[in-house]
Amino acid sequence: MPDLLLIGGMTDEMLGRLTPSFTVHRWADFDMDWLKRNGHRITHVATNGHDGVPKEVMAGLPNLELISCYGVGYDAIDVAEAVRRGIMVTHTPDVLNAEVATTAVLLALACYRELLRDDAWARSGDWETRGGAPLTRSMEGQTVGILGLGRIGQEIARKLQPWEPTILYHTRSPKESPYEHVPNLVEMARRSDLLIVITPGGPSTKHLVNAEVMEALGPQGTLVNVARGSVVDEAALIDALGSGKLGWAGLDVFEAEPHIPDALKAMKNVVLLPHVGSATVETRAAMGGLTVDNLLQHLENGTVKTPVPECQ
Ligand code: NDP
Repeated sequence: MPDLLLIGGMTDEMLGRLTPSFTVHRWADFDMDWLKRNGHRITHVATNGHDGVPKEVMAGLPNLELISCYGVGYDAIDVAEAVRRGIMVTHTPDVLNAEVATTAVLLALACYRELLRDDAWARSGDWETRGGAPLTRSMEGQTVGILGLGRIGQEIARKLQPWEPTILYHTRSPKESPYEHVPNLVEMARRSDLLIVITPGGPSTKHLVNAEVMEALGPQGTLVNVARGSVVDEAALIDALGSGKLGWAGLDVFEAEPHIPDALKAMKNVVLLPHVGSATVETRAAMGGLTVDNLLQHLENGTVKTPVPECQ
């Protein structure tokens, strides 16, 4: 049987489908010595968007044919190196669009309607001792700037429709879409009440959302990031939120996950999630299914279902 190296975790269901066809080795149980002795046997890797494939591990797998990533974002995998070596890389697009879009809307609503403050108000007894909670803001009819109008960005725009927003978007190239493309991100932020970030991570988007963008969004503005922590300058974000230059932030992703800066944790104008954009039982099962489908199909006939764009 071919040998598969598993980086990160895997559900029992995924393992149940893989073990009749692959000998599965868990990287968590091994070290570089094991890799030196056994690396040549590994033809397939299963990993995820967070762990990727560490550089030294990839270098120690001379006969690697396929990296199957559980997740749509693959910035933790050196795809340029994979392409150079003729290694196929797959990911799990589309099956998570709805869930991640729901997470973006959830974070936006939680900021606008102060969900955490009012939950605390209800639990603490403040309602009885202090009276009704202070008013919040309505999300109806807002101007929403979407940074990245790909598979998930479009689904976010669709899911926002009941709040009757004006939708703007910024991408490098305009898309066929009913929404207005704004070529300049600062300009889009200036015109937006709510900015939702949903680009890929990696060097090309690093700190796209910088101090200037946050100041343009302004004291009444809300920033939601469900993309990658690297897309937002976290130090500038803490500064903008702390000084009142930016109003609110709803964050699912952070620059040094799983670490979240204490300054963010202490702020009342933020809603924080531990990178759970796609983390429901149903969506994770669909992502796991596609991750395994790619591996099994590759074994069967050398093709895959969902290659990353660079490998198409
Ligand atoms: P797509 O590739 O379909 O869309 C990406 C969009 O980003 C495109 O519209 C693209 O347009 C735009 N974009 C890329 N680079 C830039 C740039 N430098 N400046 C402006 N726009 C840019 O990806 P998906 O919608 O499927 O996924 C997006 C990302 O969401 C993933 O890569 C992942 O990082 C993140 N994600 C997060 C999850 C979570 O749990 N929080 C779960 C799933 C995904 P153009 O090329 O024209 O610029």
